[in-house]
Amino acid sequence: MKLNDFKYDHLATDVAALKTSISNKLIYAVGKDPIAARPQDWLQATALAVRDRLVERWMKTTRAQYAQDAKRVYYLSMEFLIGRTFTNALLALDIHQNVKQALAELEVDFDQIVNLESDAALGNGGLGRLAACFLDSMATLGVAGFGYGIRYDYGMFRQQIIDGHQVESPDYWLNDGNPWEFPRPEVQYRIRFGGRVEREGNVTRWLDTHDVLAMAYDTIIPGYATEATNTLRLWSAKASSEINLAAFNQGNYFDAVENKNHSENVSRVLYPDDSTLSGRELRLRQEYFFVAASLQDLVRRYLMNHTGFEALPDHVAIHLNDTHPVLAIPELMRILVDEHQVPWAKAWALTEKVFSYTNHTLMHEALETWPVDMLGRVLPRHLNIIFEINADFIAQITTRFGEDVELMRRVSLIDEHGERRVRMAYLAVVASHRINGVSQLHSELMKQSIFADFARLFPERFNNKTNGITPRRWLSQANPSLSKLIDNLIGPDWRRHLDQLAGLARYADDPDFAAAFRAAKHVNKQRLAAWVGTHLGVTLSPDSLFDVQVKRIHEYKRQLLNLLHVVTRYNRILANPDADWVPRTVIFSGKAASAYHMAKHIIKLINDVASKINHDPRVRDRLKVVFIPNYSVSLAEIIIPAADLSEQISTAGTEASGTGNMKFALNGALTIGTLDGANIEIRDNVGADNIFIFGNTTQQIEALRAHGYLPREIYEQNAELKLALDQIRDGYFSPDEPQRFQSIFDTLVSWGDHYLLLSDYASYVAAQDRVDELYRHQREWTRRTILNTAGMGAFSSDRTIAEYAEQIWHATPLVQDLN
Ligand SMILES: *Cc1c(COP(=O)(O)O)cnc(C)c1O
Repeated sequence: MKLNDFKYDHLATDVAALKTSISNKLIYAVGKDPIAARPQDWLQATALAVRDRLVERWMKTTRAQYAQDAKRVYYLSMEFLIGRTFTNALLALDIHQNVKQALAELEVDFDQIVNLESDAALGNGGLGRLAACFLDSMATLGVAGFGYGIRYDYGMFRQQIIDGHQVESPDYWLNDGNPWEFPRPEVQYRIRFGGRVEREGNVTRWLDTHDVLAMAYDTIIPGYATEATNTLRLWSAKASSEINLAAFNQGNYFDAVENKNHSENVSRVLYPDDSTLSGRELRLRQEYFFVAASLQDLVRRYLMNHTGFEALPDHVAIHLNDTHPVLAIPELMRILVDEHQVPWAKAWALTEKVFSYTNHTLMHEALETWPVDMLGRVLPRHLNIIFEINADFIAQITTRFGEDVELMRRVSLIDEHGERRVRMAYLAVVASHRINGVSQLHSELMKQSIFADFARLFPERFNNKTNGITPRRWLSQANPSLSKLIDNLIGPDWRRHLDQLAGLARYADDPDFAAAFRAAKHVNKQRLAAWVGTHLGVTLSPDSLFDVQVKRIHEYKRQLLNLLHVVTRYNRILANPDADWVPRTVIFSGKAASAYHMAKHIIKLINDVASKINHDPRVRDRLKVVFIPNYSVSLAEIIIPAADLSEQISTAGTEASGTGNMKFALNGALTIGTLDGANIEIRDNVGADNIFIFGNTTQQIEALRAHGYLPREIYEQNAELKLALDQIRDGYFSPDEPQRFQSIFDTLVSWGDHYLLLSDYASYVAAQDRVDELYRHQREWTRRTILNTAGMGAFSSDRTIAEYAEQIWHATPLVQDLN
């Protein structure tokens, strides 16, 4: 058949056409009679109808990529925290109103079905959400980008709060099916594990392996205001021999499928922690599983229209989102050297040009290393290759610096202290032509601390790319009331050119605009209050100041510091009941890694404090505390637009960037924060007068640590702090078990207060007093919130991706002439 003879319906997007499509999908794809259809069925049918309209664009883009032989960017990430897709797709196609209308005519409640969609929660927190924002921006900018990751059967666990404790249950996100993905059973690769390595002259073979198959599932990633679309390809494990036929024939059905289940475990579940390394071999297998499948796939695609690997760096960029995909480096070397007989030195030169790496943390316990023994057992050939890379690297250092044994020991890819381990971050640095941090501060600290030696060896490799967030999801979708107001003032193009928000600054003093801005915030606060009322049975007053900290629960993020302020405020209210208090609602949300006992204990303390305060009649409406369970992307979309105050209070030097901080400021919350991560750049962009900065700087924190930090002295000298801590220790918030929070007290007062909460307490409480003072002056408060939104243009992930594309990937956007 000739392409010209191939005819298909070009799908219209008017209401009538959508109605027909949705009805057809309900009947022919979902197989339901409208009389019997449940809301879930309508969601499925509507999603399929919407998806059809993306497919045409997708095919055109793919063709254009081939026709232009575009440089493709492969973004390798263990995590993609996508959230819901439905409303995002409607925005990309600009058919929100029409779909709503079509459904209304079919007597289906649009809002109800929107809220039935499960989040795709294939990530833990910021790192995974960044990957999702980047996919959105790559498509929007026309960069030919592919996301590669794992299609976990179970994503981020569901969190319930029972009796104040976190209780985890599996995330059954695929139970209702996933209308957005295309299974590709024809795209399967064999992934090898274990076995042994055999050498014969120049030829190295990897033999007797235990194999698993990786099968592709594709999701369309639409760009905004462009027909360009990209692909997220996720891998699912399938047993390589479906079942053990011998066992099956003997009637041992259980044995027959056991091996199959075992192999398929590799894509079963997301590790519930992105900051500390689980020692489990399964995690290592997951990492290799998805990079091996991705590299086979991208090499195959490259070889479709190239012979030889000479041009590989002109057509392929591979980006490593943190160290989890670093095995892609020895895997590419293995493919080139063992399978295609490219000489080692040539293969290495290509590898260095292809790879780039983003570092996400400086915290020592979060730097990934793998025991040499385990790596040798699971991936013997890769361990050889890593040793060879290391030998070459050490030789290069010797040539440049002579026999500096100390230097060699420090930079070796193998940590020789105790059990020998491979340092994955060092492997990434040695193999990548560009290495970036995620905020200005973090990128500087990275060069001074963990990569200090490497920054001297390869100064040209190190650079900064401050994170960003997609304005499509984090303003347009999440905050319709503010978006509409902005549209009326400066038009709709800010969704693609966020810098245009600067145009709002002129209206910061305009009383009508300020009133409308405040009204939009009020609508969002009512929306959240309604949600909390329905789901948690707690009444929130939208007239109170909404003070919000939502993010993973971690000691370095210092939810406890926030809580110390809450307890202090409570004590002050009781001590001074007749004062004119600014009513506050303090909102927490976030998950604790299931094995992180301290973080789970902090959740219990938050809930116990909330229960005490909320039930104390003396407090009345002046203070309320709520913990919203099961933080997720879709909850963030409701919570963040309702915030007045954004809590970004990590110990300076610990939060690499943060992106939650950006979402809040964009939505007109004022930040109370330390000089950490991207908070510093937010201050520079919104103006130092429009943010509440407090606490020790990175340098001051370092000095405190160096000179013997004594938290007990601070505790003894500050009466309010002492009262709050004593109450926590003595069971004031846990009368049913007075000792319950002794360990939290000890951590802060007796065991060194590793994250220096007490050193920042006084300054934090003083900043909170300034918050109250400003909130009393609504005009001035609103002026500053407008200046926050107006100043956030630089934090669009479009800006971030444009920088990556130009300075790291050297990928020019696709020339798209689709019409
Ligand atoms: C943005 C986001 C994060 C990251 O928040 P930080 O405050 O930067 O840690 C985590 N989880 C979800 C669901 C998010 O949307």
